[in-house]
Amino acid sequence: MTSHDPIVIAGGGVGGLSAALALAGIGRASLVIERAPAFREVGAGLQLAPNACRILRNWGALELLTGAAVAPEMVRIRRGVDGADLAKLQLKNAEQRWGAPYVNVHRADLLSALLEQARKSELIEIRSGSALTGFIEDERGVAVTYRCDGEIRRAAGSALIGADGLRSLVRSRLHGDANDKPVYTGHTAWRTVIPADDLPEPMRRPASNLWLGERAHLVHYPLRAGKVINVVALVEDSWRGEGEGADFWDNHGDSKFLLNRFKSWTREALDLIGASESWLRWPMFDRPPLESFSRGRAALLGDAAHPMLPYLAQGAAQAIEDAQALATALAARPDDAAAALADYSAARKTRASRIQQASRKQGEIYHLSGFKAFARDMVLRASGSNRLLARQDWIYSI
Ligand SMILES: Cc1cc2nc3c(=O)[nH]c(=O)nc-3n(C[C@H](O)[C@H](O)[C@H](O)COP(=O)(O)OP(=O)(O)OC[C@H]3O[C@@H](n4cnc5c(N)ncnc54)[C@H](O)[C@@H]3O)c2cc1C
Repeated sequence: MTSHDPIVIAGGGVGGLSAALALAGIGRASLVIERAPAFREVGAGLQLAPNACRILRNWGALELLTGAAVAPEMVRIRRGVDGADLAKLQLKNAEQRWGAPYVNVHRADLLSALLEQARKSELIEIRSGSALTGFIEDERGVAVTYRCDGEIRRAAGSALIGADGLRSLVRSRLHGDANDKPVYTGHTAWRTVIPADDLPEPMRRPASNLWLGERAHLVHYPLRAGKVINVVALVEDSWRGEGEGADFWDNHGDSKFLLNRFKSWTREALDLIGASESWLRWPMFDRPPLESFSRGRAALLGDAAHPMLPYLAQGAAQAIEDAQALATALAARPDDAAAALADYSAARKTRASRIQQASRKQGEIYHLSGFKAFARDMVLRASGSNRLLARQDWIYSI
C-alpha cells in the first residue's frame, strides 16, 4: 500500500461521487464501491443552495444539470390554515448575492450529472453492487473487504472515505460507541412527485413554496424543467421506524393519513396533497455530533459524518462542501493521508455541526403553535426579503 494507491470511497451517493470528482481534480485516483447494484432513480427533489452550486460548477457538473434544474424566482412562505402570505424571499439575484445560482433538481438528475462527470475521468473507478463489509487501517494504508456477486473481495487503498450514509458501517467501526446510533426524531417526510399538468397554474410557478403549520409543514417546487412538481409534507408524529431499512425510499405511505393530518389546512394545500395517491414515507433520524470525522487513514463524509434534518435543505450541500474540503486537505499534504484527514476534519467540523444544529432549530420554528407561531409570523411579515435573505448569507456565501 502506498500513497499512490487509490483512495477507497465507500458509498456512491451524492457525497461519495462528489468526493471522487474533487479528488480527481487534484490528480488523486479513487475507487468508489457502491452497495446498490445500479444507480437507480431514487428519492425526489433537492434544493441546491449556492454554496453547493459554486462547487458543482467548478467540477463541471452544474452545467450538466442545465436542462433539468429549475431556478426558483423566490421562496414563498405561507400559513397552512388559511394560505396567508407571510414572506417572499427574492432569489432572482442569487448569483450576484452569493456568487452562484440556487437551483432545484431531482436527486436522480444530480446523481446522473455526478456520474457522467466521474465516468469521464480515468482517475475514478466505480464498482456498483459492492457493499463494504470491513476494513483495516494502519500507518501504511487501508485494506478493505466488500461483498460483490456473493463473494468477498479485497482492495487496498491509501485511505478510506466513509460516504456510506446515515447507517454508515465505517462510522460504526471508527467510533464503536454504543450510544452513537441513529435516533428517530419523531419527524417523517412524505414525498411525492406530481405531473405539473395535473395541477393549477399557481402551483406550477418557478418558486420554492413553504407552508407552515402546527407540528407540520409543506414544501413544493417544480423540477425537471417544470414538468413535475416535487411535494414534501413534513409531520411530527408517533410513527416509529419498522427496523432496519424503514428509512429507504421505497417505503410507501397512505395519502388518506396525510389528508387527515392536514385537515385543518386551507383547501389549496389539501388539493395539492390530494393530487397524489402515491407517497413515499421517509422517517427522519439524527445522530449526535462527532468529536472528529477522521481516525488515522479513515474519515467520514456527508450523512455518515453529520446527518441533518432537511429544514435548511443543506444535507447534500454539506456533503459537497466536505468533498471539496477533503481534496483541499489532501492536496496540501499529499504524502501524509492521516494528517490530511485530520486537517479535513478540523476544517469541516465546526461548520457542519453548526448547520446540523441550525437545521434542527429551523424545524422547531417551522412547527410552532399558538402565540409563538403568531410571533414568528409577525417577524416574517415585518422583516422583508432582504433581511430574511441576509440570515442565509453565512450558509450560502462560502
Ligand atoms: C426528506 C429529505 C429532503 C432533503 N432535501 C434536501 C435538500 O433540499 N437539499 C439538500 O442539500 N439536502 C437535502 N436532503 C439531504 C440529502 O438527501 C442527504 O444529506 C444526502 O443525500 C447525503 O448524501 P450522502 O452521499 O452522504 O448519503 P446517501 O445519499 O445516503 O448515500 C450513501 C450511499 O452509500 C451507499 N452505501 C451504504 N452502505 C454501504 C456499504 N456498506 N458499502 C457500499 N455502499 C454503501 C448507499 O447505497 C448510498 O448510495 C434531504 C433529505 C431528506 C430525508
